[in-house]
Amino acid sequence: PEPTETLVDMLDGAVTRHRRATALEFFGAETTYDEVAEQVSRVAEGLRKLGVKEGDRVALVLPNCPQHVIAFYAVLRLGAIVVEHNPLYTDRELRHQFEDHGARVAIVWDSVYDTVAAFPADIGVQHVVAVDMTEALPLSKRAALRLPIPKARELRAAMTKRPSRRRFLAWSSLVESKRLSRRHARPTLDSVAALQYTSGTTGSPKGVVLSHRNLRANAMQCRAWVPGLREGDETFYAVLPMFHAYGLTVCLITAMSIGAKVVLFPRFDVGLVTDASKKSPPTFLPAVPPIYDALTRTAGRKSKLDLSHVRFSISGAMSLPVATVQRWEEATGGLLVEGYGMTESSPVSLGNPMGHSRRPGAVGVPFPSTSIRVVDPDDPSVQREPGEPGELLVKGPQVFQGYWHRPDDTSETLLADGWLRTGDIVTVSDDGFVTVVDRVKELIITGGFNVSPSEVEEVFLSHPDVAEVAVVGIAKDSGGEDVAAAVVLNAGAVFDPDALKEFGRSRLARYKVPRRFVEADSLPRSLIGKVLRKRVREEFFTPRKPQPRD
Ligand code: ATP
Ligand code: MG
Repeated sequence: PEPTETLVDMLDGAVTRHRRATALEFFGAETTYDEVAEQVSRVAEGLRKLGVKEGDRVALVLPNCPQHVIAFYAVLRLGAIVVEHNPLYTDRELRHQFEDHGARVAIVWDSVYDTVAAFPADIGVQHVVAVDMTEALPLSKRAALRLPIPKARELRAAMTKRPSRRRFLAWSSLVESKRLSRRHARPTLDSVAALQYTSGTTGSPKGVVLSHRNLRANAMQCRAWVPGLREGDETFYAVLPMFHAYGLTVCLITAMSIGAKVVLFPRFDVGLVTDASKKSPPTFLPAVPPIYDALTRTAGRKSKLDLSHVRFSISGAMSLPVATVQRWEEATGGLLVEGYGMTESSPVSLGNPMGHSRRPGAVGVPFPSTSIRVVDPDDPSVQREPGEPGELLVKGPQVFQGYWHRPDDTSETLLADGWLRTGDIVTVSDDGFVTVVDRVKELIITGGFNVSPSEVEEVFLSHPDVAEVAVVGIAKDSGGEDVAAAVVLNAGAVFDPDALKEFGRSRLARYKVPRRFVEADSLPRSLIGKVLRKRVREEFFTPRKPQPRD
């Protein structure tokens, strides 16, 4: 089915059908669909008065919280573009993204208010709206959640100094605006809705341009993927960050399209989930494997964590171990299936059927109205023979419009006939199930051979001492790469690189065995939990230069 309504129409429809139902819950405080609509209208009017108009970018630097959802729809209501950011990004990372998108208005939580306020004048932010979270999220709680604490003194200084004539205002003043006039222009299906940054796993994050049509189509596809979802009768747990495309599409857009209650978590934390589950136990819990593992570990220990109402769970962003599925399904009695996608596909493209024909280990089959192809990564016009591994191409209404201000990356990734190059190597079974093997960029070339890091990782994960492992290629001065591995050992195990090498030699061709091993306390991961191999390379395999002090 083709989308016929924008994300704004979609929200309006949900509000009409579910007026008094709870839309959002945050630390026990509830907001109804009617209240969401009212606040969206007022914040939209407040933004309009700041000069926000069709096509403008508005930056959001917010954890999951009610204001995040309200701001998202208020920006869309004006036909403007939401730009999401990781609220835990450092000054340098945020600055880099602000330089890239050039938003004039930013809505930010109090922890980064001073950072954004202090951006140099050549970064075009003119209005900074501060969301004060201290009421819902007291400082003591933030410290316990390892969330940054606003620097009160600097905050006040930023407000009074007013560098570079920026205007500062409190979120509460936007909420006190009048309602937006009914006559105000609305976005169309082809208006850009969001500029969504990729995770930055293989390079610096790229801005992905997504239209209302893209995001609405993907929400409809997600809805069709989980046919058992009941309109107006689900409790979604938003433990995934909404700044990431996966959390945004599933926990915000899809959830609200069916009138669900969305329980918002500023950060994933087992204790927070346990507390929330007493009042509003989840029925649908989209997450990533490390989150499922953390929750099942707790559920097993006679805790107050109530997972008994969970009927469906979907995992994405990284491969889902079969053991994780088994433990989760035992703990909840619900189904856990794996899906696959990328920011560039709004973000989901493939999913396992939500039933017993699901195939643990595979990422599933194409979504409705989605086509796939498997091609030669060096020449995407050449299709692979059935069963042969190759790069996955995807085509469908969820495929993005291009990268923001990066025409070369766009033409490389989005082929002229609408096919998206995923950069992932996959195989497809006879009956059409896709399995992800590796990223093209992470294949290691050593002595003229291709080494698949995931194959090597799998071998070492079967070693009794190894808890986690990341295999990377380290460039050699003489050209080519060396295979190298960073391992996290189980408690009590002793690091013995020679023994690990020996273990590898008995199971892998010689060229695949890592030449170098290092022991790591933990692997660098993105906020959503992906291993950042670029950082693995930098942190464990680059000789450190002494840092000059400032
Ligand atoms: P960047 O593009 O900036 O390097 P990224 O590709 O990690 O970062 P995302 O768009 O968040 O940014 O992630 C998409 C990628 O995540 C896919 O290309 C794929 O490599 C990986 N991925 C998604 N789902 C799965 C899955 N189920 N199994 C394995 N890998 C997955
Ligand atoms: Mg990517």
